[in-house]
Amino acid sequence: MTWTGETHLQILVVGSVAYDTVETPAGKREFQLGGSACYFSMSASYFTDVGLIGVVGRDFDPDDLDMLKQHGIDTSGLIEADGKTFRWYGEYMEDINAAVTLDTQLNVFGGFDPELCDTHSNTPYLFLANVDPTIQIKVLDSMSKKPKMVACDTMNLWIDVARPALNDLIRRVDILIINEDEAKQLTGEENLAHAAHAILGLGPSLVTIKRGEYGVALFGDDFSFAAPAYPLDRVVDPTGAGDSFAGGFMGYIASVDRIDQDALRTASIAGSTMASFAVEDFGLERIKILTKADIESRFDAFTDLTHFKPMS
Ligand code: AMP
Repeated sequence: MTWTGETHLQILVVGSVAYDTVETPAGKREFQLGGSACYFSMSASYFTDVGLIGVVGRDFDPDDLDMLKQHGIDTSGLIEADGKTFRWYGEYMEDINAAVTLDTQLNVFGGFDPELCDTHSNTPYLFLANVDPTIQIKVLDSMSKKPKMVACDTMNLWIDVARPALNDLIRRVDILIINEDEAKQLTGEENLAHAAHAILGLGPSLVTIKRGEYGVALFGDDFSFAAPAYPLDRVVDPTGAGDSFAGGFMGYIASVDRIDQDALRTASIAGSTMASFAVEDFGLERIKILTKADIESRFDAFTDLTHFKPMS
């Protein structure tokens, strides 16, 4: 894995910016900074320059904004609107791999209608994090030219209530990055490989299926790759693991500016590396204090974990 030097805005992410309340077997935290766009951008910021498109309320803490800026994230697309920031309340008491949503308060996120400036609309890599697919389509339509790579995420809610828009979106993206359960729900297939190939049939050239503590699997028409999750002694808070994966994955791809099979394999490990850090503490606590040395050393541990010689 190599690091880039100075870059201009390489990735644009649109997604939620939230105050999350989470309960896990390790404890409870109230109103911690979260949301798909925050986890993604913080994770990707260690690899390249990221711009964030989102909305917050008047209650948004200036220290949280400073933290995003200190990580070099372009927050000029983070709009403040009248009302409160989006709130999500979830718990992982029964199953550490699956959040149970206890409450969602959309607040200003309910009226989210992103507008892109020229700089944002010319960004080469685009991540459409989990929001209403009509908003994801609007952002995609607002790009001045076709990005080098467009990836998107979604969730069970949109598969249930916005299927036509979601199908339109999936047809137009290069990569769908999705949880295993949602991949199965989307396709009606119980077998992972069948679900992946059914998704490829919907339009994308690649699908990355996130499998929680079992890692990720990447499928293309003539290519597949699997990466384990890092075997941690203790998972404190799984919130944001998927978005942190996506941030490391796309951050790496954008930093090398290549989308070949070797880059996709390394990107999967970069993503898994960032997801492994995300779950080690509540919210963004671990991600926000990482050093490049921490990331390189965990990446190397992944290399050892998966290294083997051909059978002779
Ligand atoms: P994940 O990477 O899947 O664990 O994403 C966790 C984040 O998703 C949390 O920080 C939540 O704030 C956010 N979230 C939960 N529900 C929604 C929703 N309906 N739309 C957008 N973001 C959400």
